[in-house]
Amino acid sequence: MGRLILVVLGKQGAGKGTQCKRLAERFQIPHVSTGDMLRAAVKAGTPVGRDVAAVLEAGALVSDDLVNRLVEERFTQPDAAGGALLDGFPRTFAQAEALEAILGEDGVKLCVNLDVPVELVTQRLSARRVCVDCGAIYTDTDPEAISGVCSVCGGQVIQRADDQPEAIRSRLEVYERDTAPLLDFYRERGLLVSVDGSRAPDEVTADIVAVIGERLSR
Ligand code: AMP
Repeated sequence: MGRLILVVLGKQGAGKGTQCKRLAERFQIPHVSTGDMLRAAVKAGTPVGRDVAAVLEAGALVSDDLVNRLVEERFTQPDAAGGALLDGFPRTFAQAEALEAILGEDGVKLCVNLDVPVELVTQRLSARRVCVDCGAIYTDTDPEAISGVCSVCGGQVIQRADDQPEAIRSRLEVYERDTAPLLDFYRERGLLVSVDGSRAPDEVTADIVAVIGERLSR
């Protein structure tokens, strides 16, 4: 069967991060989020972080070369030997092609599209709060969001700069223009499955787990 490499696609706020965290635990493979990696670089003040900080804040995409290198390097780490859940990568055709080159024969097994209407993702993103340390996700009415303290790690819970209305609008435009065409890329390869992501997280997870089980037993 080889490595379990899953690509999770969907608009910002479709629930990719939430679902990937659960699936990573369930399948014992790492959750590889290029957004988390880039935010960590910004927070740590590395040279890469300094270069990309303004791009992230505006909700634009950083260069294909840079994220391709990050992902290639991530796959050299031992914990990714059994597979990975890719969240937020690939986001462009060039990245999808680079991913095929990085993985070679033992490539992407499935691409899960979390399908959620634009009105609902806009609502979710406006209400989203995150822990700056562990990435735990909350909504604005959760006690952690109100107190500003993460119940998982004690870190600070904030609203991401790119979850402000102007940045949300431009990120969703970028998604439609650059990332939505990847649905066809994976459909043509017979790898695409769409799941209704507008339901409660548990229901969505159950659906994805069933789809993966069905695929892996073929
Ligand atoms: P995310 O957490 O996936 O919404 O990513 C946050 C931000 O990181 C995006 O708005 C981009 O600025 C940047 N980013 C994350 N992944 C990528 C990628 N694959 N290609 C280009 N930019 C990315």
